[in-house]
Amino acid sequence: MKPPLFTHHACRTVEEAVGLLAADPDTSKVISGGQSLVPMMNLRLASPAHLVDLNPISGLNSIDVGQGTLTIGATTRQHDVERSAEVASVAPLLISALAHVGHPQIRNRGTVVGSICHADPAAEMPAVLTTLGGQVAAQGATGTRTIAAEDFFDSYLTTALAPDEIATAVTFNTPNGSSGWHFEEVTRRHGDFAIIGIVALLTLADGVISDARLTIFGGAATPVRVPAAERLLVGAAASDVDADLLAQAARETSAALRPSDDIHASGDYRRHVAGVLTTRGIRASLERASARA
Ligand SMILES: Cc1cc2nc3c(=O)[nH]c(=O)nc-3n(C[C@H](O)[C@H](O)[C@H](O)COP(=O)(O)OP(=O)(O)OC[C@H]3O[C@@H](n4cnc5c(N)ncnc54)[C@H](O)[C@@H]3O)c2cc1C
Repeated sequence: MKPPLFTHHACRTVEEAVGLLAADPDTSKVISGGQSLVPMMNLRLASPAHLVDLNPISGLNSIDVGQGTLTIGATTRQHDVERSAEVASVAPLLISALAHVGHPQIRNRGTVVGSICHADPAAEMPAVLTTLGGQVAAQGATGTRTIAAEDFFDSYLTTALAPDEIATAVTFNTPNGSSGWHFEEVTRRHGDFAIIGIVALLTLADGVISDARLTIFGGAATPVRVPAAERLLVGAAASDVDADLLAQAARETSAALRPSDDIHASGDYRRHVAGVLTTRGIRASLERASARA
């Protein structure tokens, strides 16, 4: 299928792009990699009259490692992040998750920031940002602002960005040396969106869990942290995390979700598997953290 007619604007500056969006926010859409937007246009699920293309803007294709942070610019391809030695050293979790985003052909064009802005609840990048924490840098007609990761995802395909705002970069907090992580998702075929998945991050201090972040994706309209399961872990000695504690955490995760049935799986199946993934996520994260401590 072909998309409906549109005007393509190859922007040279962020200001130009923001000006175009502000002039006609209801009928204009940013395009980055086009790997979600163009299929939606072809299927007539989106019909923007104006495509505001960020790709010609210099300075947005960037990977910057700071003190405890990793910042990725708006036009940086998923493929380039996946192959970055810098990213591998500070955020191996991100690399592991990227390997599950579609297929290499898609990652050659798709962007990390575009995936976060698209906010598909079954997508990997929003769940990684939710787990690591960080922020989105936004620029609109009235200026710039930062949006904390926990405030960014509003609902299905909906974020805190205003229609005339562009996400110019996303900053991930990078875990310190005593953290361990785990990424796992269940799909029918490799490269599909997740039926259900987990991103886990545990931090140890003197053998005790000092921070726990468990995010389930594919189980609600946004990626969701599971505070009840996280609370069970914080303060526990790594050596005390036994089958009982894991089972309790799994129950808390399943109880926190209310996924609906769809053509891919029933809500009950998703709830059950989310619990199973929780036990695996905790166990594997602890093993990684203990090996690094
Ligand atoms: C066959 C196939 C399989 C896929 N499988 C997966 C998968 O398993 N997991 C997964 O996560 N994704 C998957 N994708 C989607 C892919 O990862 C996309 O690249 C990604 O979701 C969107 O990134 P993009 O740069 O292509 O964004 P685009 O398609 O260009 O844009 C997507 C949306 O985000 C908005 N947007 C993009 N960039 C910005 C910005 N900087 N500021 C403000 N708004 C912006 C656009 O206006 C649009 O609404 C798949 C795609 C295909 C075609």
